[in-house]
Amino acid sequence: MHPLRWGDPARATSLPAGARALVEAVFGPPPEAGARDDGPAAVPAVGLPADTVAVFAAVVGDEHVSTDDDLRRLRTRGKSTTDLLRARAGDLADAPDVVVRPASHGEVADVLAVAVDRHVAVVPFGGGTCVTGGLAARREGYAGVVSLDLGRLVDVDVDPVSMTATLGPGLRGPDAEARLTEHGLTIGHVPQSFEHASIGGFAATRSSGQASAGYGRFDALVVGLAVATPTGPLTLGTAPANAAGPDLRQLVLGSEGAFGVITSVTVRVRPVPEVTRYDGWRWASFADGVSALRTLAQSGLRPTVLRLSDESESAVNLADPDAIGNSGGGCLMIVGYEGTAARVETERVAASALLASLGGADLGEEPGRAWEHGRFAAPYLRDAMLDLGVLVETLETATFWSGVDRLYADVKAALERTLGQPALVLCHVSHVYETGCSLYFTVAARQADDPVDQWLAAKTAASDAIAAAGATITHHHAIGTDHRPWLADEIGQVGVRVLRAVKAELDPTGVLNPGVLIP
Ligand SMILES: Cc1cc2nc3c(=O)[nH]c(=O)nc-3n(C[C@H](O)[C@H](O)[C@H](O)COP(=O)(O)OP(=O)(O)OC[C@H]3O[C@@H](n4cnc5c(N)ncnc54)[C@H](O)[C@@H]3O)c2cc1C
Repeated sequence: MHPLRWGDPARATSLPAGARALVEAVFGPPPEAGARDDGPAAVPAVGLPADTVAVFAAVVGDEHVSTDDDLRRLRTRGKSTTDLLRARAGDLADAPDVVVRPASHGEVADVLAVAVDRHVAVVPFGGGTCVTGGLAARREGYAGVVSLDLGRLVDVDVDPVSMTATLGPGLRGPDAEARLTEHGLTIGHVPQSFEHASIGGFAATRSSGQASAGYGRFDALVVGLAVATPTGPLTLGTAPANAAGPDLRQLVLGSEGAFGVITSVTVRVRPVPEVTRYDGWRWASFADGVSALRTLAQSGLRPTVLRLSDESESAVNLADPDAIGNSGGGCLMIVGYEGTAARVETERVAASALLASLGGADLGEEPGRAWEHGRFAAPYLRDAMLDLGVLVETLETATFWSGVDRLYADVKAALERTLGQPALVLCHVSHVYETGCSLYFTVAARQADDPVDQWLAAKTAASDAIAAAGATITHHHAIGTDHRPWLADEIGQVGVRVLRAVKAELDPTGVLNPGVLIP
């Protein structure tokens, strides 16, 4: 990945002419100087003593320890817009001192022992796609910071009888799927960051994919975990279900590297779908579409993909920049089905009849195919917009159905009030449950003199609105450092003490991802 941009440098793009003209009409011409993004900004000098680097090398081998500036630049922070803006402005202050690449659970445990002994902070690194500051550990009080790159833990062990697969945490989404496809199997976990994010990262952040309505969130797919902690190993998940006390897997899922390093993940797998079909539906208003989603979700029908854009997002049509402004009005819903031909047909007929009876207009397969085609494109468009001096960022939350109208109105108003004009606030329902849904907001605004401060002010206002509405501070992006100030509101002081107690037991000297997750 490029240190200052999203994804594969070969796929970097600029906006099509029509979209660029529209962006300039809304946000004004790009700043004269243009965005600086290509100079290799300097990383701070390595602060970790050479003899400590040598002890890490003794554990994993010289060739798997690096203090190379280019590699440290690539392991600095994640891929939120503020991460990119800081890197573009030459601020790489959070660069790790050294990148260490273990190959096994045992090597991870030995690296942690050295880290404890030398009081070095350890930041587990999967795909580096974090958007909540979870890779920017606190440095003060530590001898240095190690980026623990899990890219060599890539084993795959399939149990076709139980329909499970035990996967190395370093496998990226496409590699894991390619290995499972050899067995005719899939996890079905496809977040927008799929192409770069890792299995361990999905577990550590409780990620949710675009097809989670059908396959389930990643945490719901995990049946077993192995974890290395400074005080010993945790091996969890010996049966498909159990009543052996509280489910400790849930302590590891979402622990963001603060409790231990996930060294293997066993997931439920399914057959590769015979058929995939994604339909578009138009609704007169977002409220109508939300109401239809709720009815559908509570009807017992379970499409694989369900998402609904509000009026503004439907008009902008993030899936297809060539079609910006040509949505035809109303709100676009994507309803996708995956599985055997027979199951897809049965579900589609039943869900379509229900949606039609609720007032939806069937747009056929074309909008669904456009969404599928463009599903990984938006992050590249974010870079193109940043190049034009436009701030683009996202945030997400979730609540029960009875609170959706208020949450939508309050977060939108908070963002519109604080971003400065001109600004666009777009939203879609990204994940749907019987009891509620998540809302995913995307903003675009003319960049202020300090765009990082501009976003932090807007994000703070939106987060306060989320907390006041009683919704969650994060449905799938995790806590990191960015959401930490709102966690106590959500889980209460007793909840915070429980997290601190677990941390004290598993990581008594606090070397694991200091400053991340725990308030
Ligand atoms: C463009 C874009 C789109 C995104 N779309 C989605 C989406 O659709 N759905 C979604 O859920 N998220 C999404 N995200 C957020 C991000 O991709 C997820 O949080 C993802 O799960 C992170 O995986 P990763 O491998 O990149 O983890 P990393 O970024 O490497 O790490 C994330 C956190 O987990 C810790 N960690 C990583 N691996 C381990 C391990 N093995 N053991 C212990 N701790 C570990 C890290 O220290 C860090 O705190 C998106 C991000 C971007 C930039």
